[in-house]
Amino acid sequence: MMPQSPVPLPASLRDVAPAELFPDVFARDAQHQGFARGGRDTALQALAAIDPVTYGRDRSHLDGHVSRVSPYLRHGVLTLAEVRDAALAHAPDTAPSRVWKYVNELSWRDYSVRVYAEVGELIWQDFEPYKTGLPASAYAREFPADIDSSTTGASCIDAWSDELRQSGYLHNHVRMWLASYVVHHRRLWWQGGAAWFITHLLDGDPSSNNLGWQWVASTWRAFPYLWNRGNLVKYAGDRYCAACPLEDAGCPFDATYAALSERLFEGKAAAPGESGRLDPMTLKDVPWEPPPTPEAVSAAVVWVHGDRLSPTNEALVAYPQGPAVFVWDDGLLTEWMVSAKRQTFIHECVQDLPVHVLRGDVAAEVIRFARAHGATTVATTPSPSPRFAAIVTALEAAGLRVQVWAEPPFGESLTPLDLRVHGDYWRQISASAFGKDPAPPKPRRPRAKKSQSVKSKGKK
Ligand SMILES: Cc1cc2nc3c(=O)[nH]c(=O)nc-3n(C[C@H](O)[C@H](O)[C@H](O)COP(=O)(O)OP(=O)(O)OC[C@H]3O[C@@H](n4cnc5c(N)ncnc54)[C@H](O)[C@@H]3O)c2cc1C
Repeated sequence: MMPQSPVPLPASLRDVAPAELFPDVFARDAQHQGFARGGRDTALQALAAIDPVTYGRDRSHLDGHVSRVSPYLRHGVLTLAEVRDAALAHAPDTAPSRVWKYVNELSWRDYSVRVYAEVGELIWQDFEPYKTGLPASAYAREFPADIDSSTTGASCIDAWSDELRQSGYLHNHVRMWLASYVVHHRRLWWQGGAAWFITHLLDGDPSSNNLGWQWVASTWRAFPYLWNRGNLVKYAGDRYCAACPLEDAGCPFDATYAALSERLFEGKAAAPGESGRLDPMTLKDVPWEPPPTPEAVSAAVVWVHGDRLSPTNEALVAYPQGPAVFVWDDGLLTEWMVSAKRQTFIHECVQDLPVHVLRGDVAAEVIRFARAHGATTVATTPSPSPRFAAIVTALEAAGLRVQVWAEPPFGESLTPLDLRVHGDYWRQISASAFGKDPAPPKPRRPRAKKSQSVKSKGKK
C-alpha cells in the first residue's frame, strides 16, 4: 500500500473511566467491580497463589483449591503456557503427575479455543440434537426474569445468580449446576443461558462457555447433565439448604437421578452410558504447525485486542517503539451486553499497556490509526473469534498488511489435531504440554458414524 497522508486522530481514551465511556451500562448494572482486578501485576499475584497439587484432590468442592485465573486467561493477561509452567514448577521433575489434573483442565481451555477457531459462529448452534427426548423447539427462548433477579425461591439458584451478577465468577461445579437448572428444570434453550453467562462472567467467551452449556444440555454429550441435592451437599455442604424456603415446601432437587430424569424428561432421555463414544463434530483434522514468526518491519502499528491484554503481548514486544492502539468494540459490547464489571476489568488491563485507546468500529479505527501514523502494516496477535477474522479481512481490503504474532503454544503435536473429542486431542498434545517431545502418532481407530449437525467452515 502506498503510504497515505496522515489523518488526524482523536485523543486517546486510555485514562477515561469506563463509567464515563459507557454510562448506560453503568446505570443498568448495580455492580461495577468484579471479583478480580485487571492488569498484569494482579494476574501474576493470582498465578503465584495457585495450588495445583491440592487442586487435583478437591477441585470439585466449592471450597476447593481452584485457581481463579480464568479472566486472565480469557483476556490473555496470562498465557496457557505460562500458567502450565507455573503449575509444573509445583511438582518435582520426577512427578509431574502431581499436577496432571490441573494441566489437563488447562487443556480444556486450549481445546475450546481451537474448536471455536474452527467452527466460528456455529458454536452458537446445537452440535447435535438434545438427548433428552425433547426437540429443540421445546426449549423456551425468553430468559425468565426470576432467574436473573435471584427470585426463584430456591436458595442455591438465587445465591449463584447473585454471585454471577456481583462477582463475575462461578466455580465450575456451580456453572454446571446452574446451567442444568436453566436448561433442564426450566426448559430454556442453552443459548439464552450462555448469553446470560457471557454478559456477567469476567472470563465469559463463546469458546469455553458454549461448550460447557452444550455439554450440560446434551447437544454435545450422550446424555443430559443432572444433579441432585445429595450431590450439592457433598460438594457444597448445607450452606444453601439450611435456610432454603423450599426446605419444607419441597426441594426440586431432592430426588434420585432416575426420579429426576422421569420428572423432567418423562423417561425419554438417554441414560448415562447408553450411547457409545461421542463423535460430536464433523471437524476434519486441523493441521498442526507452529505459526510462522513474522519479521518486524518499519512503518508498522500494533493493534491490541481483548484476547491478549498483556504487556507481554507478542506484537507489542516485537514493536517496542511502535505506535499501538486498542479499540473498544462498541458493536461487540452491545451484542454481548458486556457488564460494567467486565468493562472495568478490561479497562484495568488496558491501563498497563502503552496504547492509544479509541472506540467504535474496530476495523475503521485501526485503519484510521494506521493511516495517522503512515503505516502499511498492522501487527497483532491471534484470536479464535470470527469477528477477528472479519476485521483482518477489512484491514487487508484497505491495503494494509496484517502480521499475526502468536504466543508460545500450550502443546505441540506431530500430527494434525483431531478436535472431535477432547480425549483424542489430549492424547496428541499431552506429552508436549508436560514439556516432553510431542508423542509419536498412534494408529487411528475407525470412527463411529458422523453427526450431521455441525460442520466446520466451508464444509456446509
Ligand atoms: C456452563 C459452563 C460455562 C462455562 N463458561 C466458561 C467461560 O465463559 N469462560 C471460561 O474460561 N470457562 C468457562 N467454563 C469452564 C470452567 O468452568 C472455568 O474455566 C473455570 O471454572 C474457571 O475457574 P478457575 O480459573 O478457578 O478454574 P480452575 O479449575 O482453577 O482451572 C484453571 C483453568 O483451566 C481452564 N479450565 C478449567 N476447566 C475448564 C473447562 N471445563 N473448560 C474450559 N477451560 C477450563 C480455565 O482456563 C481455568 O481458568 C464454563 C463451564 C461450564 C460448565
